[in-house]
Amino acid sequence: MTVGHLHLAFAGGTALVTGGRSGIGASTVDLLAESGLSVIALDVSPEDAVAHRPAVRHAVADVTDEAAVTTALTDLLGESPLDYVVNSAGIHRQAGLESLSAADWRQVLDVNLVGAALTTKAALPWLRRSAGAAVVNVTSLEASRVVALINPEPVAHYAASKAGLEMLTASMARDLGRYGIRANSVAPGFIQTPMARANHAGVAALPEQAAARVPMGRYGDPAEVASAIAFLLSEGASYITGASLLIDGGFSTT
Ligand code: NAP
Repeated sequence: MTVGHLHLAFAGGTALVTGGRSGIGASTVDLLAESGLSVIALDVSPEDAVAHRPAVRHAVADVTDEAAVTTALTDLLGESPLDYVVNSAGIHRQAGLESLSAADWRQVLDVNLVGAALTTKAALPWLRRSAGAAVVNVTSLEASRVVALINPEPVAHYAASKAGLEMLTASMARDLGRYGIRANSVAPGFIQTPMARANHAGVAALPEQAAARVPMGRYGDPAEVASAIAFLLSEGASYITGASLLIDGGFSTT
């Protein structure tokens, strides 16, 4: 089916999108639903901010709680297969190394890294029932670069969690290939979402500064990340696994 100018080859199926209530996750839910998939939007908070879409069902669970994710999938899927998982749930806390507590470290690593591992593990019995399942993890430009421009101080715990998620993606590709399951990541740069707005609040010159450093001259839109996620899930990416795709408007070249 064609969405905009992108040809997405999906032969139907069901997708689980974590963090599906907001930002990149919400855009991904929209695009996959428009592409003919049945979508489960899973989030830690009840759905309230996003208008109801007919092909979308909502689940409330914390991605760090494997049993809660299993319960949600059991309730919504029963014995039916799950074809796709998008791990987009994530948190970002602005703090420099000297002010990061053990609790800060554990919370960010837990949600951004352990959460993606446990959610995928919980989904595995359903993914194995699919003929061509795929996982996409949402990492970050900060997985491979210290981005001092955007953050007054480097965010060591966030960067480390996303670097870990890149290696988790590679491990998933290696481990799950035996079941025909592909695993890839997208690494977004500066994307206009509630998370980005919260992080950049109080840094008045930031949007202009950042835009000036980005070859594309602007922040990205969540829909521009969603389209890459959809491609990596689709049959068009049937021989792509263990790959990471930067979506940063070219920032990493500067
Ligand atoms: P966002 O708008 O804040 O969305 C994140 C979503 O994850 C929210 O709906 C949040 O729910 C949910 N969430 C947080 N903790 C959760 C948990 N424990 N269990 C289940 N859901 C949870 O942020 P976004 O910018 O779209 O970020 C999406 C992903 O992209 C994140 O992994 C982020 O690190 C990554 N990313 C974003 C950017 C950017 O510039 N925006 C750049 C690089 C990477 P609540 O709102 O209820 O807490």
